[in-house]
Order: sequence, then structure tokens, then C-alpha cells
Amino acid sequence: MQRVVRWYPPAYDIRVEDVPIPSVVDPDDAIVKVHLAGLCGSDLHIYRGHEDVDRDIICGHEIIGEVIALGTSFNPSAAARAGRPELYSTLKIGDKVVSPFTVSCGECHFCRIGFTCRCVHSRLFGSPALSGGQAQYVRIPKAGGTLFNLTSIHAPPSNGPQDSLSKVSDSSILLLADILPTGAFAAIQAIQHPKIATILTGKAYPFGAVVPGFVTDDQTLAQLQPKDRTLTIAVVGLGPVGVCAVVSLLHILAELEDSKGVELAYQVIAVDPLETRRVKMEAVYKAIHTVGTGPQRFLVTSIDEAKKASSDWTDGAGCNAVLEVVGNNSALTLAYDIVRPFGVITSVGVHQEPPLPFNGRSVYDKNVSFDFGRCPVRAMFPLALEILLKRQDVFGGVGEEASLIDRVVSLNDAPDIYEQFDKGKCGKVLFNPWL
Ligand SMILES: [Zn+2]
Ligand SMILES: [Zn+2]
Repeated sequence: MQRVVRWYPPAYDIRVEDVPIPSVVDPDDAIVKVHLAGLCGSDLHIYRGHEDVDRDIICGHEIIGEVIALGTSFNPSAAARAGRPELYSTLKIGDKVVSPFTVSCGECHFCRIGFTCRCVHSRLFGSPALSGGQAQYVRIPKAGGTLFNLTSIHAPPSNGPQDSLSKVSDSSILLLADILPTGAFAAIQAIQHPKIATILTGKAYPFGAVVPGFVTDDQTLAQLQPKDRTLTIAVVGLGPVGVCAVVSLLHILAELEDSKGVELAYQVIAVDPLETRRVKMEAVYKAIHTVGTGPQRFLVTSIDEAKKASSDWTDGAGCNAVLEVVGNNSALTLAYDIVRPFGVITSVGVHQEPPLPFNGRSVYDKNVSFDFGRCPVRAMFPLALEILLKRQDVFGGVGEEASLIDRVVSLNDAPDIYEQFDKGKCGKVLFNPWL
């Protein structure tokens, strides 16, 4: 038997129970012994009964652990013979793995192209479709595509070539399962947007993006001035994912400067109405502000001040991009208010059923671009891992001033911790199922 955290309908009912250990039921399955499982803001949607779930479920979708059993699809010739993901040939019992929060087969069109969260076999861990990871053991379907093998990953050379992932804290690796890739996704969707490319390349629209070689390329209206090329980006929502978005944004911009050998001008406005979250963001920024040449300006602020700064810093134009990391209409309304015409809003918050707070005229009148939706975590692992390895100062610790994770607790604490988390009385919490 194993210990699990189980939710019962209709709401607010969390129990710790003993149930049978899962076993391989499909040849593509792996069984993972869970080392750590996260408690996440999106677990609260089910906890509060907002998802119309009418049966009990084993909770949790953020999982790291160790492979203890594999189905018969896993054998040395599987990848070469059947053109399957490499892991079907290489994954071994004892390997340390991280799972994204959804199943990704690695073989369908959406997986091949990197939109892994829309895999045709997608199922969310900790939902009625699939038991979750707040447990001692979890079954991973399509494991050769879903899992990411951490065993052979090495830390960056700055820490010495012999450093292995064993020197990176487990609690930080857990962040790969969801929140760090999601934050990085919000940032990279904005940075890679064609409307932002114009700013980064310094060529007026429509010449700055990917389509090259217009005959009239040299007949743009006017040369861009330095002030046209200052990127102003706001991040709305500074919970754990929002902090990951800010750290990722600064990392990606610094890397861009390094790789292109140019100095970018950018300013970042980090927004949250809650003071405790702003204090955390300030502490994190203090720990990492040496990234690259860094932004020209960085401000952690409340909603009203954010409106003022986004106007004052841009001669009234507004932000080039806004990363919305909350998932409600007041956050989206703020994002719309502070984004400039031809700006970009990337939204990774989990939105529910209420209609969006815009109409056709409001989006037409601002030429605003929206990117909504779930992060393709499996595809984002390499970028997120790079950020994780370089930023152990923020992601490595537990319960410190600048760390993202508040504490690590036992599964037995689940009923109490869910209640505290729901009431905003604790930050990011991880379960160690062996405590
Ligand atoms: Zn999560
Ligand atoms: Zn797929």
C-alpha cells in the first residue's frame, strides 16, 4: 500500500489515505517513486469545487522522482526500430525524472512541433482522467514521451565540469514540473512575438520579423530612434509563477544581449496588489540583479503605480508587452490598460468561464495581440532547466528571503496545508511523501 492525498467532492475535503501502489497497465507506462510533489495554485480550482468534478481524485500534478518499473515498450532497440522517442531505449530503473503536469506522447503532430500541452493523448495529472503525484508512487502513461530524464544532466561549466545535478537542490528541480517552464513560456512568447521583433532588430514594421527581402526594404518611413527601441514589459501577478516569469524574462533578455553582442534597452514593471508578494519579488530581484547588463529600470509596484509608470516611462505609449500570470478578469483588464497600441499580452493564468473583459471594438482599436493558454512544459524543459541551473540563488533554497519555496511538508499535513494555501497563508509548498 502507499499513502496519497485525496480530494472528495463537492469541495474543501482533503483526506490522507492508504491505497494500492499503481502498477504498469500499458506497455508505455513507467511507475515513479515520488521524491517531491508540489502544491500549486491550480490545485485550488479543484479544491474549491470550481471544476465540476463529481468523483474523488488523487491530487497533484508537479512530480519528480525515480523510475521503479517500466512497461515492455522500454528496450534498447525501441527508438531505432520503431522511431519512438529516445527515452523508450534509454530510460532505466533508478533514473531520476521530472514529469510535466500533462501526458505528452512525443509522437503526435503537436508533440513533434513543440506544442506538447495539446498532445492528442494529453491528460492532466491529479484530475479525474489521471491520478496525481501527491502520493508515494505514480503511474506515468506514455512515459517515453512524457518524462524528462535528469540523470545525465550537468550543471553549467561555471560550477566546474564535474558538477552534476546532484548538487542542484531537489526542491528546485520540482519547479521544472510546472511553474518555471510556465513563467519562461510567458516571457518567451512575448520576446519572440513579431511585434517585439521590430524593436529588437531595429527595423520598422513589417521588416523586422521573419519575412526577409522586400524590394522596398530601404524605403521605411523613418529611422528608428533609440527611444523607439526601448522595450517596456510588465508582469502582472507576482505569485510563484509570476516571479518565475520575471526571472525568466531577465535571463532571456540578458542571453540575447550576450549572443548578439548588443546592449538592449529594457525596463520591467512587476505588479501585484499584495505587499507580501512584492516584498518577495524585491528580495528575488536583489539576489539576481547582476544578470547581464540588466534592465535600465526595474520597478515592483501596486496596480495604480503600475499604470503611472507604464505611461511615464514610455511618453504615454504604454508597455510593449504584458505578461498576465493571474488568470482573472481584473488582471486582464489591467494588462489591456497598460499595453500600448500594437502591443502583446501573453496570458498563462488559468482562466475560467466568465467572458473576457474586451469587445471587438476594444481589441480592434488597440491592434493588440493576445496569446492565451497552457504552457507546453515538455517542450520548455531545456530552456527552463538552463534558467534553473543558473539561478540556484533564487530557486535553490527553502524558506529563505529570496527563495520561491516556503517549506517542505509531509503528506499527513495536506488537509491543513491546503486550507492555509487556499487562504493565502503560505507560499509554495512541496510534499515529501517519505516524511
Ligand atoms: Zn502546478
Ligand atoms: Zn503527443
